[in-house]
Amino acid sequence: MDLHFTADVADPEEMEAVDLCLAGLSVDLPSNAGGRRQYLIPVLHAIQDRKGWISPGALNYACFRLQVPPAEAFGVADFYALFQTRPHPPVTVHVCDDIACRTRGAEELCAEVEAMLGPQGESRDGHATWHRSPCLGLCERAPAALVVAAGSPPRDRHDRDIAPATSGDILTAVVGAPVPQPDLAVSVPQMGQPGLKLLARVGRVDPTSLDDYRAAGGFHALRRAFEMGPAAVVKEVVEAKLVGRGGAAFPTGVKWQGARSTALPRYLICNADESEPGTFKDRYILHQDPHQLLEGMLISCWALNVHLAYLYIRGEFPEAAKIAEKAIEEARAKGFLGKNILGTGFDVEIYVHRGAGAYICGEETGLIESLEGKRAYPRIKPPYFPAVLGLYQCPTIVNNVETLCHVKHIVRMGGAEYAKIGRPNNTGTRIVCVSGDVVKPGYFEIEVGSITFGELINDFCGGMKPGRKLKGVIPGGSSAKVLRAGEKYKIKEKAADGSMVDKEIGLEDIRLDFDSLAAVGSMAGSGGVIVMDDTRDMVWVLNNINNFYAHESCGQCTPCREGSLWMKKITDRIVAGGGVDTDPAVLKNVADNIAGKTICAFGEACSWPTQSFLAKFPEEFSTKSLKPLPPPMPPEYTSEEIIEHDQIPTKLGARGAGLMAVDASK
Ligand code: SF4
Repeated sequence: MDLHFTADVADPEEMEAVDLCLAGLSVDLPSNAGGRRQYLIPVLHAIQDRKGWISPGALNYACFRLQVPPAEAFGVADFYALFQTRPHPPVTVHVCDDIACRTRGAEELCAEVEAMLGPQGESRDGHATWHRSPCLGLCERAPAALVVAAGSPPRDRHDRDIAPATSGDILTAVVGAPVPQPDLAVSVPQMGQPGLKLLARVGRVDPTSLDDYRAAGGFHALRRAFEMGPAAVVKEVVEAKLVGRGGAAFPTGVKWQGARSTALPRYLICNADESEPGTFKDRYILHQDPHQLLEGMLISCWALNVHLAYLYIRGEFPEAAKIAEKAIEEARAKGFLGKNILGTGFDVEIYVHRGAGAYICGEETGLIESLEGKRAYPRIKPPYFPAVLGLYQCPTIVNNVETLCHVKHIVRMGGAEYAKIGRPNNTGTRIVCVSGDVVKPGYFEIEVGSITFGELINDFCGGMKPGRKLKGVIPGGSSAKVLRAGEKYKIKEKAADGSMVDKEIGLEDIRLDFDSLAAVGSMAGSGGVIVMDDTRDMVWVLNNINNFYAHESCGQCTPCREGSLWMKKITDRIVAGGGVDTDPAVLKNVADNIAGKTICAFGEACSWPTQSFLAKFPEEFSTKSLKPLPPPMPPEYTSEEIIEHDQIPTKLGARGAGLMAVDASK
């Protein structure tokens, strides 16, 4: 292979960062892994962690060590938002400006940070800069920020995610001083309550101590799984009727049964890349109970005859990656991981892989590409169903954090007993994370289908903010179709005599389960519930969501790459006061021509918000899209240039908190 190096040379620190990283990577790569390219993203992290950016010389040296063409490696480094390929200050502040944070003061925080550090991407003192960021998964404590500091040696680094009360907190984090963390009980109000499963140990057990976990009953389920045997574990998961909690709600047992009939070797990947705005359900498991996840992964490996598993953690969760690595180290030292686990003769290794800032890594085939050291381009299905052709073209099971944690409880309780929790075909508990315009946003474990949105908002979250009324809810992460308060939804319900009868219910009466949300035209998705009150401008909300998807499209499919950008630009224009009377129809047309026409489900994810906001709040779009379409334009201009800049004067107005007070008609 001709590697075509440039003349750039790494400095000694960069070379040391690469060498130390490679020396610390002990993954025994299978012979089919295609060389050492899988190490590329960890090595790029190591360089950036040391110097704050990836210089051409450092890239050359990494490519020399990994035998990867530098042009390809640059393409990878350039793809991920957290990697910098141009000179960059060592400290970076990422301020979230997605929907939950924007409704809780992100714009004001950005202005303060700009006053403190200078314009976005620039640096006054050469030490620190800042960027707007997609969702950081701290939605209940919005607005959120992540401070990433390159350091030498690496142990001096002080990455931290914070919910800054003031820009002063950010300044404190920038200089490396501790920032007071909000009370855990505020984020997890159920902490310490009886009857919890996934959250039972949160706040009660030291997450850094495996002994504490064992004292609280930890690893009993793993021993039980070893006694039962792999086939019996799979049978219990099937009987439990567990469906995946990552968003697609696919039956986990069915996925597992399919994988068990495939060839060896096979792999397990835990998808901890939750990046959907409004979703932060994996964060507290990773931070507060990492051994629960490890136990779930180990049981799953045993059931599926997997000997190599990966925990793929999103790049914006650096603290979670450190906690997981420490938990794995401790588990290995105490015989729960590695060779001959607990004397059973069963071997498993689990490795943590840090993502680098790409929402599309949450898509399972994109995640697999990323794990192989490539751009996270989703693969075409068929033929690339992961259970058949996954990591290194071998059968691979991809489950998310919460799903794998449930496996432990299924083994402990038995599948039939677990299936009694919740509602038929909607079994078990699940985590819902609530953000937006409620008094107390937070993180809750509920029995699936046991409560309604009205109960969630009023009983769990303290109701709407004073003097406000419910206007709408996005029930399962930003891609889920919005539901409007005041609308009547038709559902079928079982009558006392067992027959199914038609019924009309309001938004507050919809149950939080997979079937009920599908029946009203939306989905339970990732469990991220975003609540909006009557002061919110729904065009502004959609514009914020469109902005996220336009930024995160991987760009492989024309309808998604171009369409997501068009939807953003059209809503940009409407919010800025330049909406033309054809905009709602054009928006719908664009969205309708993305969904179902792309390689991966991102196409649906980015078009469902536009389709549903237009359908549920048509009057808000039409009253802001009043200007007539300009006459045909000369060929040297595009229609967008004419509309935005020449014939229809627009004014800035897209920032702010999306309140109805923003009068876009002027
Ligand atoms: Fe990439 Fe979008 Fe196509 Fe998915 S749908 S592969 S994100 S361009």
